[in-house]
Amino acid sequence: MLQRKGITLLDVVILILIVGVAAALILPHIRKAETERLEQMCRLRMRILADAELTYYLSGGLLPEIADSIPDSTLDDSKEIIVDKEEEIELIHLYTDDIEKLKPFMSDNAGGIPVSLDTISFVCPLDNQEFIFIVEDSLFYSISCPNGHGHVIKGNFSWETK
Ligand SMILES: [Zn+2]
Repeated sequence: MLQRKGITLLDVVILILIVGVAAALILPHIRKAETERLEQMCRLRMRILADAELTYYLSGGLLPEIADSIPDSTLDDSKEIIVDKEEEIELIHLYTDDIEKLKPFMSDNAGGIPVSLDTISFVCPLDNQEFIFIVEDSLFYSISCPNGHGHVIKGNFSWETK
């Protein structure tokens, strides 16, 4: 009976050692996969923001339905241009660092990947630090991850350039 117990104890110790070794071997892989997953999520968010910036820029900061109505009014039969030219240029050459303004321009699809806009936030998923927005003038913007996951400058993604 005592010997049986001893064997059982040894079995347990061996099992613990095997589990320990297996965990030591597997954990770095899990951690690496998790780090890569967060990096991908971070870049996807930046892509959504960049796409929204582009849509915002192209529409002159007007919501799609309002922007769509402008060409119709400018191309009516009388050929009268209703939107003042200078005002139009000012509207069209526009980026924004106001995330609230960008929200209506976001697509629920980024590079073919469906995205839930309800759960999107403007922080790096690694540690919830906010993205760095730089809008220097009406023709330049950049979005950067504070954790070095990459940056987007005027629609160019740093992780896609060689
Ligand atoms: Zn990040």
